[in-house]
Amino acid sequence: MNDAWREDALCQQTDPALFHPEPGGTTIPAKRTCMACPVRRECLDYAIDTGQHWGIWGGVSQNELRRLVRVARAEVAA
Ligand code: SF4
Repeated sequence: MNDAWREDALCQQTDPALFHPEPGGTTIPAKRTCMACPVRRECLDYAIDTGQHWGIWGGVSQNELRRLVRVARAEVAA
């Protein structure tokens, strides 16, 4: 899997802890960073393809990401 997109990841220039908030913690700063990130689509695709369950990827929260992963797996299985 090509992950050259990581070189342009905006989160590389910020506090990584923002992307792994404590339960109940805010996701807003991470999501704001993602919305301005030039590789958001690639990041989200990677997270879905690899079944990531933790942290903020591509501007979506853990719960949103888990839902997207479930949908993607269901589509593959259909
Ligand atoms: S979309 Fe968000 S998590 Fe993904 S690389 Fe960009 S800043 Fe990082």
